[in-house]
Amino acid sequence: MNALNYIDGIFVDSVDGSTLPNVNPATGEVIGTIARSKKADVEVAVHAAMQARKDWAALSMLERADWLDRMADGLEQRKEDIAQRESTDTGKPLALARRVDAQRSIDNFRFFANVARQQEPEVFEMSDATNVVHRNPIGVVGLITPWNLPLYLLSWKVAPALLMGNTIVAKPSEMTPLTASLMCEVASDIGLPVGVINVLHGYGPEVGQAILEHPSIGAISFTGGTATGRHVAATAAPMFKKLSLELGGKNATIVLDDADLDAAVEGAVRAGFTNGGQVCLCGSRILVHRSIADEFTRQLVESVDAMICGPPDDPSTQIGALISVEHLQKVESYIELGVEEGGTILTGGTRKMTGPITPSGEGAYLRPTIIDGLEHTARTSTEEIFGPVVTIHRFDSEEEAIEMANSTEYGLAGSIWSTDLDRAHSIAKQIETGIIWVNTWLHRDLRTPFGGVKNSGVGREGGRWSLGFFSEPLNVCIKRDQE
Ligand code: NDP
Repeated sequence: MNALNYIDGIFVDSVDGSTLPNVNPATGEVIGTIARSKKADVEVAVHAAMQARKDWAALSMLERADWLDRMADGLEQRKEDIAQRESTDTGKPLALARRVDAQRSIDNFRFFANVARQQEPEVFEMSDATNVVHRNPIGVVGLITPWNLPLYLLSWKVAPALLMGNTIVAKPSEMTPLTASLMCEVASDIGLPVGVINVLHGYGPEVGQAILEHPSIGAISFTGGTATGRHVAATAAPMFKKLSLELGGKNATIVLDDADLDAAVEGAVRAGFTNGGQVCLCGSRILVHRSIADEFTRQLVESVDAMICGPPDDPSTQIGALISVEHLQKVESYIELGVEEGGTILTGGTRKMTGPITPSGEGAYLRPTIIDGLEHTARTSTEEIFGPVVTIHRFDSEEEAIEMANSTEYGLAGSIWSTDLDRAHSIAKQIETGIIWVNTWLHRDLRTPFGGVKNSGVGREGGRWSLGFFSEPLNVCIKRDQE
């Protein structure tokens, strides 16, 4: 299946006709080509978005919310197709793609449609005047997204950007183009006005860079790695573009001495290994109270040993392929570093599969890996690996747990496991991060703020935070009494 650009309501090749191969990471097979867009393609897409923006902005927010609902309906009809394409592009288990990626992509459109219907006018009365805050569109916005949750993350930006009256030029990761194309097919099928959504495929440093630099794009919403985010900021900030940066994480799973051990083990496995550990929110550092550490670790290793790593389309597969062989090699280099830094591999660390299913030898597979015995300040314990690798660290006091949790450059998420909710809440407030879950993980209410501190990002998305980012408030102050 080939991924073409979608510009002005038409699927087109890149301007110079160049393409890239699209590889299925579970098999190593080339499954199609992707348009390799560059600056000239961005020019055409921005022109289309500029042409469309006046009419789109002229619709009421409720009319645009109806369009979001139609998008959700169209995606819902193609839910299985979304899951199949996402699984093929990423190597993730099909069951996971159905449950998480496909469902959440639909939900994102529905959620923001409903948010629109709950908006109250923003009015501030003075004794002699009334202030009315209008939320104006920015104009054309650039959306750049990664490969780990392709349509899930893209739709999380597309829906609020459209709702607030903007038109879009989006670039998904070149490794996962297929569901962005599906979204465009739905837009076309439902008759979304042309030019409102434009999607360009290709390499970040080529087409992504041209989006960042285009003077007519007023805002950039970027999700990806911290190093890329730094470059995005350095390029876009001097042009005074509005910026939202959702970046990397190295999140702590903190298991207190009073935790329900079974729940904590199950939670730590889910947090550590969902999507092969390729979620920015993954709990890749497990901090456990020394008094329960041995038993917790024994149960954790047992659970991880039992995980089935296999072909994405096998219903029993819990961990599929990683995104690419190159990424697998990067993850393996961190495992080697962990050993060099004094760590002991308790399980995993190998491509060799021991479970009942044998995935393709050409696929990017790695057994889920637990490393013990590292300093909590080691590189392996503090740098984002973004694969199925967790490290375990022991603490003796709450203060030590907090110090360990805060000892990375990242601050995106984390979880605390305890039967004392007040104690957990009190610790949560001292973690330098954007989200902390207590006795759960990745339990999302889409109305709440999502984003990180420190090197995990700038700004928040979710609910009214997304509406705020994708709009410019205009305050009109009307003096009532003429004297
Ligand atoms: P990257 O930072 O490599 O890429 C993200 C996107 O940016 C891709 O579309 C990429 O294109 C593009 N890009 C790369 N270089 C440039 C450039 N010079 N100008 C413009 N765009 C560019 O991240 P990954 O795709 O590897 O995703 C994994 C990372 O994303 C992890 O660090 C993870 O933590 C983070 N992430 C953060 C989330 C959050 O909400 N905080 C959620 C999910 C992931 P291309 O693919 O062609 O290189």
